[in-house]
Amino acid sequence: MAIAVYPGSFDPVTLGHYDIIERSARIMDKVIVGVLNNSAKSPLFSAEERVNMLIDVTKGFSNVEVCAFEGLTVDFVKKCNASVIVRGLRAVTDFEYELQLSQTNHVIAPGVDTIFLTTNLKYSYLSSSVVKEIAMYGGDISAFVHPEIAERIWAKMAGIKK
Ligand code: ADP
Repeated sequence: MAIAVYPGSFDPVTLGHYDIIERSARIMDKVIVGVLNNSAKSPLFSAEERVNMLIDVTKGFSNVEVCAFEGLTVDFVKKCNASVIVRGLRAVTDFEYELQLSQTNHVIAPGVDTIFLTTNLKYSYLSSSVVKEIAMYGGDISAFVHPEIAERIWAKMAGIKK
């Protein structure tokens, strides 16, 4: 069984992330979306909130699971009995960082390989940070995230501004 882990911050999940999940679920037998619980990054949403948002948007896939993790990605990958890491590539700016990360992971865990899916052209500019920035100033985010995610972003922003 080909099991892949798609790790990331997903703070919050965007349509760009969703596109990668949808496509990797078609290629792999099972995809585990790994939500990195890294407090050093001071995320807008807690790991639990990020996991719940991902569970919501992926409930239509029978072969996708969502799980939070801490520590090294390769340790999480091994714990999941997976041997593949999926990452998305948007622009050249992603490439250098992703190459370094995948090579490092391969040295510390030779049984684990990283595969890259190039972004859907529609979402090549899209990142969680852009969505948060637009929402912070009250802009329209409906083209970037699922409606139920947009609602949670608005609720979070309202809570912050109180
Ligand atoms: P990280 O902090 O690990 O980069 P992100 O949530 O920002 O976490 O991204 C997780 C993965 O999803 C990364 O591989 C990133 O390149 C990919 N990704 C993010 N946005 C997009 C997008 N619009 N299209 C394709 N891949 C994307």
